[in-house]
Amino acid sequence: MNVYDSARMADVLAPLGYASTDRAEDADMVILNTCHIREKAAEKVFSELGRLKTLQAAKAKTGSRMILAVAGCVAQAEGEEILRRAPFVDIVLGPQTYHRLPEMVAQAARAGGAVLDTEFPAEPKFDFLPEARAEGSSAFVSVQEGCDKFCTFCVVPYTRGAEYSRPAPAVLAEIGALAAQGVREITLLGQNVNAWNGGEAGWGLARLIGAIADLGTVERIRYTTSHPRDLDDQLIAAHAQIPQLMPFLHLPVQSGSDRILQAMNRGHDRDAYLRLVERLRRAQPDLALSSDFITGFPGESDADFAQTMALVRQVGFVQTYSFKYSPRPGTPAALMPDQVPEPVKEERLAQLQALLHQQTAAFNQACLGREMRVLLDRPGRHAGQLLGRSPYMQPVHVKAAAHLLGTVVPLRITAVHPNSLAAEPVDAGTS
Ligand code: SAM
Ligand code: SF4
Repeated sequence: MNVYDSARMADVLAPLGYASTDRAEDADMVILNTCHIREKAAEKVFSELGRLKTLQAAKAKTGSRMILAVAGCVAQAEGEEILRRAPFVDIVLGPQTYHRLPEMVAQAARAGGAVLDTEFPAEPKFDFLPEARAEGSSAFVSVQEGCDKFCTFCVVPYTRGAEYSRPAPAVLAEIGALAAQGVREITLLGQNVNAWNGGEAGWGLARLIGAIADLGTVERIRYTTSHPRDLDDQLIAAHAQIPQLMPFLHLPVQSGSDRILQAMNRGHDRDAYLRLVERLRRAQPDLALSSDFITGFPGESDADFAQTMALVRQVGFVQTYSFKYSPRPGTPAALMPDQVPEPVKEERLAQLQALLHQQTAAFNQACLGREMRVLLDRPGRHAGQLLGRSPYMQPVHVKAAAHLLGTVVPLRITAVHPNSLAAEPVDAGTS
Protein backbone atom coordinates (compact mmCIF):
# COMPACT_ATOMS: atom_id res chain seq x y z
CA MET A 1 0.00 0.00 0.00
CA ASN A 2 2.89 2.36 0.66
CA VAL A 3 4.15 1.71 -2.87
CA TYR A 4 0.72 2.74 -4.19
CA ASP A 5 0.60 5.80 -1.91
CA SER A 6 4.10 6.87 -2.98
CA ALA A 7 3.11 6.63 -6.65
CA ARG A 8 0.01 8.73 -6.00
CA MET A 9 2.06 11.36 -4.15
CA ALA A 10 4.26 11.57 -7.26
CA ASP A 11 1.08 12.01 -9.36
CA VAL A 12 -0.11 14.80 -7.06
CA LEU A 13 3.26 16.60 -7.24
CA ALA A 14 3.85 16.20 -10.99
CA PRO A 15 1.81 19.30 -11.96
CA LEU A 16 4.12 21.36 -9.71
CA GLY A 17 7.06 20.25 -11.83
CA TYR A 18 8.40 17.54 -9.53
CA ALA A 19 9.70 14.30 -11.05
CA SER A 20 11.17 11.28 -9.25
CA THR A 21 14.89 10.78 -8.78
CA ASP A 22 16.75 7.84 -7.25
CA ARG A 23 19.39 10.11 -5.73
CA ALA A 24 18.31 11.92 -2.57
CA GLU A 25 21.28 14.31 -2.91
CA ASP A 26 19.79 15.68 -6.16
CA ALA A 27 16.30 16.16 -4.76
CA ASP A 28 14.53 19.45 -4.08
CA MET A 29 12.18 17.49 -1.85
CA VAL A 30 12.49 14.14 -0.08
CA ILE A 31 9.40 12.37 1.25
CA LEU A 32 9.92 9.46 3.62
CA ASN A 33 6.81 7.31 3.31
CA THR A 34 6.85 5.37 6.54
CA CYS A 35 5.47 2.19 8.13
CA HIS A 36 4.51 1.86 11.78
CA ILE A 37 3.61 -1.81 11.83
CA ARG A 38 6.70 -2.97 13.72
CA GLU A 39 9.09 -1.08 15.99
CA LYS A 40 12.08 -1.64 13.68
CA ALA A 41 10.35 0.02 10.74
CA ALA A 42 9.37 3.00 12.88
CA GLU A 43 12.86 3.43 14.37
CA LYS A 44 14.40 3.37 10.89
CA VAL A 45 12.63 6.67 10.19
CA PHE A 46 14.70 8.52 12.76
CA SER A 47 18.02 7.08 11.57
CA GLU A 48 17.11 7.92 7.97
CA LEU A 49 16.16 11.46 9.02
CA GLY A 50 19.62 11.87 10.54
CA ARG A 51 21.18 10.99 7.17
CA LEU A 52 18.86 13.36 5.30
CA LYS A 53 19.61 16.21 7.71
CA THR A 54 23.25 16.07 6.55
CA LEU A 55 22.17 16.20 2.89
CA GLN A 56 19.79 19.05 3.60
CA ALA A 57 22.55 21.03 5.33
CA ALA A 58 24.99 20.37 2.46
CA LYS A 59 22.40 21.64 -0.01
CA ALA A 60 21.73 24.73 2.07
CA LYS A 61 25.46 25.56 1.87
CA THR A 62 25.18 25.69 -1.92
CA GLY A 63 22.23 28.08 -1.59
CA SER A 64 19.48 25.61 -2.51
CA ARG A 65 16.76 24.15 -0.37
CA MET A 66 15.71 20.55 0.24
CA ILE A 67 12.18 20.23 1.60
CA LEU A 68 11.94 17.25 3.92
CA ALA A 69 8.58 15.54 4.46
CA VAL A 70 7.58 12.52 6.54
CA ALA A 71 4.44 10.75 5.34
CA GLY A 72 2.66 7.51 6.19
CA CYS A 73 1.76 5.80 9.42
CA VAL A 74 4.74 6.85 11.57
CA ALA A 75 3.84 10.44 10.70
CA GLN A 76 0.22 9.72 11.65
CA ALA A 77 1.12 8.13 14.98
CA GLU A 78 4.15 10.18 16.00
CA GLY A 79 3.77 13.52 14.16
CA GLU A 80 4.51 15.78 17.13
CA GLU A 81 7.37 13.55 18.26
CA ILE A 82 8.96 13.73 14.79
CA LEU A 83 8.90 17.52 14.85
CA ARG A 84 10.34 17.52 18.36
CA ARG A 85 13.17 15.08 17.58
CA ALA A 86 13.80 16.33 14.03
CA PRO A 87 12.96 20.07 13.89
CA PHE A 88 14.54 20.33 10.43
CA VAL A 89 11.57 18.38 8.97
CA ASP A 90 9.34 20.73 6.93
CA ILE A 91 6.16 18.67 6.47
CA VAL A 92 4.53 15.83 8.42
CA LEU A 93 1.49 14.28 6.78
CA GLY A 94 -0.62 11.23 7.47
CA PRO A 95 -1.77 8.63 4.92
CA GLN A 96 -5.18 10.28 4.48
CA THR A 97 -4.06 13.81 3.53
CA TYR A 98 -1.49 13.45 0.76
CA HIS A 99 -3.88 14.92 -1.81
CA ARG A 100 -3.15 18.22 -0.03
CA LEU A 101 0.60 18.00 -0.65
CA PRO A 102 0.69 20.94 -3.11
CA GLU A 103 -0.76 23.30 -0.47
CA MET A 104 1.61 21.91 2.16
CA VAL A 105 4.62 22.43 -0.11
CA ALA A 106 3.54 26.01 -0.83
CA GLN A 107 3.04 26.63 2.87
CA ALA A 108 6.41 25.09 3.76
CA ALA A 109 8.11 27.26 1.13
CA ARG A 110 6.47 30.39 2.59
CA ALA A 111 6.49 29.80 6.31
CA GLY A 112 9.41 29.36 8.62
CA GLY A 113 7.76 26.64 10.72
CA ALA A 114 6.81 23.08 9.90
CA VAL A 115 3.46 21.95 8.46
CA LEU A 116 1.65 19.16 10.31
CA ASP A 117 -1.42 17.54 8.73
CA THR A 118 -2.48 14.23 10.23
CA GLU A 119 -6.22 14.74 9.99
CA PHE A 120 -8.73 12.11 8.94
CA PRO A 121 -10.71 14.31 6.52
CA ALA A 122 -14.42 13.59 6.08
CA GLU A 123 -14.02 13.57 2.28
CA PRO A 124 -11.75 10.72 1.22
CA LYS A 125 -8.49 11.68 -0.49
CA PHE A 126 -9.37 9.50 -3.49
CA ASP A 127 -11.93 12.13 -4.59
CA PHE A 128 -9.11 14.66 -5.06
CA LEU A 129 -6.35 12.62 -6.66
CA PRO A 130 -5.41 13.13 -10.31
CA GLU A 131 -5.66 10.24 -12.79
CA ALA A 132 -3.17 7.51 -11.94
CA ARG A 133 -0.12 7.28 -14.22
CA ALA A 134 0.96 3.78 -15.16
CA GLU A 135 4.54 2.70 -14.68
CA GLY A 136 4.94 -0.55 -16.56
CA SER A 137 2.41 -3.27 -17.20
CA SER A 138 1.46 -4.15 -13.61
CA ALA A 139 -0.25 -1.72 -11.25
CA PHE A 140 -1.60 -1.54 -7.73
CA VAL A 141 -5.03 -0.03 -7.15
CA SER A 142 -6.11 0.77 -3.59
CA VAL A 143 -9.77 -0.12 -3.17
CA GLN A 144 -10.11 -0.41 0.59
CA GLU A 145 -8.33 1.25 3.48
CA GLY A 146 -8.38 1.20 7.23
CA CYS A 147 -9.59 -1.51 9.53
CA ASP A 148 -12.28 -2.08 12.15
CA LYS A 149 -11.04 -5.47 13.33
CA PHE A 150 -8.70 -4.37 16.10
CA CYS A 151 -6.42 -7.36 16.30
CA THR A 152 -4.77 -6.85 19.66
CA PHE A 153 -1.23 -6.59 18.22
CA CYS A 154 -1.89 -4.18 15.35
CA VAL A 155 -1.64 -0.39 14.89
CA VAL A 156 -3.53 -0.20 11.58
CA PRO A 157 -6.97 0.73 13.00
CA TYR A 158 -5.31 3.65 14.80
CA THR A 159 -3.01 4.88 12.00
CA ARG A 160 -5.19 4.25 8.95
CA GLY A 161 -8.56 4.80 10.58
CA ALA A 162 -11.90 3.08 10.07
CA GLU A 163 -12.64 0.71 7.23
CA TYR A 164 -13.43 2.53 3.99
CA SER A 165 -14.25 1.12 0.54
CA ARG A 166 -13.88 3.16 -2.64
CA PRO A 167 -17.00 3.18 -4.81
CA ALA A 168 -16.99 0.66 -7.67
CA PRO A 169 -17.32 3.28 -10.47
CA ALA A 170 -14.19 5.14 -9.25
CA VAL A 171 -12.22 1.90 -9.02
CA LEU A 172 -13.32 0.76 -12.48
CA ALA A 173 -12.52 4.18 -13.97
CA GLU A 174 -9.00 4.10 -12.49
CA ILE A 175 -8.43 0.59 -13.82
CA GLY A 176 -9.80 1.55 -17.25
CA ALA A 177 -7.36 4.48 -17.39
CA LEU A 178 -4.43 2.29 -16.33
CA ALA A 179 -5.31 -0.38 -18.90
CA ALA A 180 -5.44 2.32 -21.60
CA GLN A 181 -1.84 3.14 -20.64
CA GLY A 182 -0.73 -0.47 -21.19
CA VAL A 183 -1.35 -2.05 -17.77
CA ARG A 184 -2.11 -5.78 -18.09
CA GLU A 185 -2.16 -6.81 -14.43
CA ILE A 186 -4.05 -5.18 -11.57
CA THR A 187 -3.50 -5.92 -7.90
CA LEU A 188 -6.37 -4.67 -5.77
CA LEU A 189 -5.11 -3.43 -2.43
CA GLY A 190 -6.61 -3.08 1.00
CA GLN A 191 -5.68 -3.73 4.61
CA ASN A 192 -8.58 -6.16 4.43
CA VAL A 193 -9.28 -6.06 0.74
CA ASN A 194 -11.94 -8.74 0.84
CA ALA A 195 -14.01 -6.58 3.22
CA TRP A 196 -14.51 -4.25 0.22
CA ASN A 197 -18.16 -3.25 -0.13
CA GLY A 198 -18.06 -0.13 -2.27
CA GLY A 199 -20.77 -0.93 -4.78
CA GLU A 200 -24.52 -1.06 -4.72
CA ALA A 201 -26.15 -3.40 -2.20
CA GLY A 202 -25.05 -6.95 -2.88
CA TRP A 203 -21.65 -6.01 -4.25
CA GLY A 204 -18.60 -7.64 -2.70
CA LEU A 205 -15.04 -8.08 -3.87
CA ALA A 206 -15.99 -11.05 -6.07
CA ARG A 207 -18.41 -8.91 -8.06
CA LEU A 208 -15.81 -6.15 -8.41
CA ILE A 209 -13.30 -8.70 -9.73
CA GLY A 210 -15.96 -9.93 -12.18
CA ALA A 211 -16.57 -6.36 -13.35
CA ILE A 212 -12.82 -5.82 -13.90
CA ALA A 213 -12.63 -9.06 -15.89
CA ASP A 214 -15.61 -7.86 -17.96
CA LEU A 215 -13.70 -4.71 -18.97
CA GLY A 216 -11.86 -7.08 -21.30
CA THR A 217 -8.59 -5.14 -21.05
CA VAL A 218 -7.02 -6.59 -17.91
CA GLU A 219 -5.43 -10.00 -18.34
CA ARG A 220 -4.53 -10.68 -14.73
CA ILE A 221 -6.22 -9.78 -11.46
CA ARG A 222 -4.83 -10.22 -7.95
CA TYR A 223 -5.94 -8.93 -4.55
CA THR A 224 -4.20 -8.51 -1.24
CA THR A 225 -4.42 -8.69 1.80
CA SER A 226 -7.39 -10.88 2.63
CA HIS A 227 -8.73 -11.58 6.08
CA PRO A 228 -9.98 -15.14 6.66
CA ARG A 229 -13.15 -13.75 8.30
CA ASP A 230 -14.17 -11.87 5.15
CA LEU A 231 -13.56 -14.61 2.60
CA ASP A 232 -17.10 -15.27 1.42
CA ASP A 233 -18.59 -17.96 -0.83
CA GLN A 234 -18.68 -15.62 -3.84
CA LEU A 235 -14.98 -14.90 -3.58
CA ILE A 236 -14.16 -18.59 -3.32
CA ALA A 237 -16.37 -19.24 -6.37
CA ALA A 238 -14.60 -16.42 -8.25
CA HIS A 239 -11.39 -18.47 -8.06
CA ALA A 240 -13.16 -21.23 -9.97
CA GLN A 241 -15.03 -19.00 -12.42
CA ILE A 242 -12.87 -16.01 -13.40
CA PRO A 243 -9.88 -17.06 -15.50
CA GLN A 244 -8.20 -13.66 -15.11
CA LEU A 245 -8.05 -14.17 -11.33
CA MET A 246 -4.57 -15.56 -10.63
CA PRO A 247 -4.28 -18.84 -8.70
CA PHE A 248 -2.46 -17.22 -5.80
CA LEU A 249 -3.87 -16.01 -2.51
CA HIS A 250 -2.28 -14.23 0.43
CA LEU A 251 -4.35 -15.31 3.42
CA PRO A 252 -2.68 -14.44 6.74
CA VAL A 253 -3.25 -16.85 9.62
CA GLN A 254 -0.72 -15.43 12.16
CA SER A 255 -0.84 -18.50 14.43
CA GLY A 256 -2.02 -22.10 14.41
CA SER A 257 -3.11 -22.08 18.06
CA ASP A 258 -6.74 -21.43 18.97
CA ARG A 259 -5.73 -19.90 22.28
CA ILE A 260 -3.41 -17.40 20.58
CA LEU A 261 -5.83 -16.65 17.74
CA GLN A 262 -8.39 -15.77 20.37
CA ALA A 263 -5.97 -13.57 22.33
CA MET A 264 -5.12 -11.85 19.04
CA ASN A 265 -8.85 -11.20 18.44
CA ARG A 266 -8.61 -12.68 14.95
CA GLY A 267 -12.26 -13.77 14.99
CA HIS A 268 -11.70 -17.31 13.70
CA ASP A 269 -10.09 -20.50 14.94
CA ARG A 270 -7.60 -22.91 13.41
CA ASP A 271 -10.29 -25.19 12.08
CA ALA A 272 -12.14 -22.39 10.31
CA TYR A 273 -8.89 -21.46 8.53
CA LEU A 274 -8.25 -25.06 7.48
CA ARG A 275 -11.82 -25.40 6.21
CA LEU A 276 -11.40 -22.23 4.13
CA VAL A 277 -8.21 -23.60 2.58
CA GLU A 278 -9.99 -26.84 1.74
CA ARG A 279 -12.87 -25.01 0.05
CA LEU A 280 -10.51 -22.73 -1.86
CA ARG A 281 -8.54 -25.71 -3.13
CA ARG A 282 -11.72 -27.46 -4.18
CA ALA A 283 -12.68 -24.36 -6.17
CA GLN A 284 -9.20 -23.89 -7.65
CA PRO A 285 -6.98 -26.99 -7.26
CA ASP A 286 -4.00 -25.05 -8.66
CA LEU A 287 -4.19 -22.39 -5.93
CA ALA A 288 -0.89 -21.44 -4.28
CA LEU A 289 -1.14 -19.95 -0.80
CA SER A 290 0.82 -17.29 0.99
CA SER A 291 0.45 -16.12 4.58
CA ASP A 292 1.69 -13.93 7.46
CA PHE A 293 2.86 -15.34 10.79
CA ILE A 294 3.79 -13.84 14.13
CA THR A 295 6.00 -15.73 16.60
CA GLY A 296 6.17 -14.95 20.30
CA PHE A 297 2.80 -13.25 20.75
CA PRO A 298 2.26 -12.68 24.53
CA GLY A 299 1.50 -15.95 26.25
CA GLU A 300 2.58 -18.14 23.31
CA SER A 301 3.86 -21.44 24.78
CA ASP A 302 5.96 -24.13 23.10
CA ALA A 303 2.74 -26.07 22.57
CA ASP A 304 1.05 -23.09 20.88
CA PHE A 305 4.04 -22.64 18.61
CA ALA A 306 4.01 -26.37 17.78
CA GLN A 307 0.43 -25.85 16.59
CA THR A 308 1.64 -23.15 14.18
CA MET A 309 4.35 -25.49 12.82
CA ALA A 310 1.76 -28.26 12.41
CA LEU A 311 -0.63 -25.97 10.55
CA VAL A 312 2.16 -24.91 8.18
CA ARG A 313 3.01 -28.58 7.49
CA GLN A 314 -0.65 -29.36 6.89
CA VAL A 315 -1.42 -26.45 4.53
CA GLY A 316 1.86 -25.96 2.63
CA PHE A 317 2.63 -22.36 1.67
CA VAL A 318 4.59 -21.11 -1.33
CA GLN A 319 5.45 -17.63 -0.14
CA THR A 320 5.20 -16.11 3.32
CA TYR A 321 5.98 -13.20 5.58
CA SER A 322 6.88 -14.01 9.16
CA PHE A 323 7.77 -11.69 11.98
CA LYS A 324 8.56 -11.86 15.66
CA TYR A 325 5.93 -10.12 17.72
CA SER A 326 6.71 -6.42 18.13
CA PRO A 327 4.87 -4.66 20.98
CA ARG A 328 3.27 -1.51 19.61
CA PRO A 329 2.39 1.42 21.88
CA GLY A 330 -1.35 1.85 22.33
CA THR A 331 -2.30 -1.71 21.35
CA PRO A 332 -3.82 -4.10 23.93
CA ALA A 333 -1.24 -6.85 23.38
CA ALA A 334 1.60 -4.55 24.40
CA LEU A 335 0.10 -4.49 27.92
CA MET A 336 -0.63 -8.22 28.15
CA PRO A 337 1.18 -10.26 30.80
CA ASP A 338 3.52 -13.09 29.77
CA GLN A 339 5.47 -11.18 27.14
CA VAL A 340 7.74 -13.72 25.44
CA PRO A 341 11.49 -13.09 25.81
CA GLU A 342 13.25 -11.91 22.62
CA PRO A 343 15.54 -14.96 22.29
CA VAL A 344 12.49 -17.27 22.39
CA LYS A 345 10.66 -15.21 19.74
CA GLU A 346 13.80 -15.31 17.60
CA GLU A 347 14.38 -19.04 18.02
CA ARG A 348 10.77 -19.79 17.05
CA LEU A 349 10.97 -17.43 14.08
CA ALA A 350 14.12 -19.18 12.87
CA GLN A 351 12.46 -22.60 13.15
CA LEU A 352 9.33 -21.41 11.38
CA GLN A 353 11.26 -19.70 8.61
CA ALA A 354 13.38 -22.81 8.01
CA LEU A 355 10.18 -24.81 7.43
CA LEU A 356 8.61 -22.08 5.27
CA HIS A 357 11.77 -21.79 3.14
CA GLN A 358 11.75 -25.55 2.63
CA GLN A 359 8.16 -25.36 1.39
CA THR A 360 8.91 -22.47 -0.98
CA ALA A 361 11.97 -24.29 -2.34
CA ALA A 362 9.98 -27.50 -2.84
CA PHE A 363 7.24 -25.63 -4.71
CA ASN A 364 9.79 -23.87 -6.93
CA GLN A 365 11.53 -27.18 -7.64
CA ALA A 366 8.21 -28.76 -8.62
CA CYS A 367 7.84 -26.02 -11.24
CA LEU A 368 10.91 -27.26 -13.18
CA GLY A 369 9.83 -28.25 -16.69
CA ARG A 370 6.36 -26.75 -16.25
CA GLU A 371 4.88 -24.36 -18.74
CA MET A 372 3.37 -21.19 -17.36
CA ARG A 373 2.22 -17.83 -18.63
CA VAL A 374 4.43 -15.03 -17.39
CA LEU A 375 3.82 -11.28 -17.55
CA LEU A 376 7.18 -9.84 -18.65
CA ASP A 377 7.11 -6.49 -16.91
CA ARG A 378 10.76 -5.37 -16.59
CA PRO A 379 14.06 -5.56 -18.43
CA GLY A 380 16.43 -8.03 -16.73
CA ARG A 381 19.89 -7.31 -15.37
CA HIS A 382 21.61 -8.83 -18.43
CA ALA A 383 21.33 -7.72 -22.04
CA GLY A 384 18.49 -9.42 -23.90
CA GLN A 385 16.86 -10.59 -20.68
CA LEU A 386 13.33 -9.82 -19.51
CA LEU A 387 11.88 -10.33 -16.04
CA GLY A 388 8.36 -11.15 -15.00
CA ARG A 389 6.12 -12.91 -12.51
CA SER A 390 4.59 -16.33 -12.77
CA PRO A 391 0.90 -16.77 -11.88
CA TYR A 392 2.18 -17.76 -8.41
CA MET A 393 4.23 -14.55 -7.98
CA GLN A 394 7.62 -16.21 -8.57
CA PRO A 395 10.14 -13.93 -10.33
CA VAL A 396 11.00 -15.47 -13.73
CA HIS A 397 13.77 -14.42 -16.12
CA VAL A 398 14.05 -15.30 -19.78
CA LYS A 399 16.07 -14.34 -22.86
CA ALA A 400 13.44 -12.74 -25.03
CA ALA A 401 12.99 -10.01 -27.63
CA ALA A 402 12.43 -6.53 -26.21
CA HIS A 403 9.06 -6.16 -27.95
CA LEU A 404 7.67 -8.82 -25.57
CA LEU A 405 8.03 -6.41 -22.65
CA GLY A 406 4.58 -5.76 -21.21
CA THR A 407 3.02 -8.95 -22.59
CA VAL A 408 1.99 -12.27 -21.12
CA VAL A 409 3.93 -15.10 -22.79
CA PRO A 410 3.99 -18.87 -22.35
CA LEU A 411 7.36 -19.98 -20.91
CA ARG A 412 8.89 -23.28 -19.86
CA ILE A 413 10.81 -23.30 -16.56
CA THR A 414 14.36 -24.52 -17.21
CA ALA A 415 16.15 -23.86 -13.92
CA VAL A 416 15.36 -23.07 -10.32
CA HIS A 417 17.57 -20.50 -8.56
CA PRO A 418 17.32 -19.56 -4.86
CA ASN A 419 15.30 -16.40 -5.56
CA SER A 420 13.99 -16.80 -9.09
CA LEU A 421 13.18 -19.19 -11.91
CA ALA A 422 14.85 -19.27 -15.32
CA ALA A 423 12.74 -19.98 -18.38
CA GLU A 424 12.72 -20.26 -22.16
CA PRO A 425 9.96 -19.46 -24.63
CA VAL A 426 7.70 -22.50 -25.01
CA ASP A 427 8.36 -22.87 -28.72
CA ALA A 428 12.19 -22.77 -28.27
CA GLY A 429 13.75 -26.05 -29.35
CA THR A 430 10.45 -27.50 -30.55
CA SER A 431 10.38 -25.82 -33.95
N1 SAM B 1 -5.08 -7.10 7.53
C1 SAM B 1 -4.20 -8.16 7.30
C2 SAM B 1 -4.63 -9.34 8.14
O1 SAM B 1 -5.31 -9.15 9.11
O2 SAM B 1 -4.22 -10.44 7.88
C3 SAM B 1 -2.77 -7.84 7.61
C4 SAM B 1 -2.28 -6.46 7.47
S1 SAM B 1 -0.95 -6.08 8.58
C5 SAM B 1 -0.74 -4.46 8.04
C6 SAM B 1 0.41 -7.00 7.89
C7 SAM B 1 1.05 -8.00 8.80
O3 SAM B 1 1.91 -7.37 9.72
C8 SAM B 1 0.10 -8.79 9.66
O4 SAM B 1 -0.48 -9.86 8.97
C9 SAM B 1 1.00 -9.29 10.79
O5 SAM B 1 1.54 -10.56 10.51
C10 SAM B 1 2.12 -8.24 10.82
N2 SAM B 1 2.04 -7.46 12.07
C11 SAM B 1 1.13 -6.53 12.38
N3 SAM B 1 1.37 -6.05 13.63
C12 SAM B 1 2.45 -6.71 14.09
C13 SAM B 1 3.19 -6.67 15.32
N4 SAM B 1 2.81 -5.88 16.31
N5 SAM B 1 4.26 -7.48 15.45
C14 SAM B 1 4.63 -8.30 14.44
N6 SAM B 1 3.98 -8.39 13.28
C15 SAM B 1 2.91 -7.59 13.10
FE1 SF4 C 1 -4.29 -5.17 11.61
FE2 SF4 C 1 -5.20 -6.87 9.73
FE3 SF4 C 1 -5.96 -7.13 12.25
FE4 SF4 C 1 -6.82 -5.04 10.85
S1 SF4 C 1 -7.28 -7.23 10.49
S2 SF4 C 1 -6.11 -5.00 12.95
S3 SF4 C 1 -5.02 -4.63 9.59
S4 SF4 C 1 -3.87 -7.37 11.41
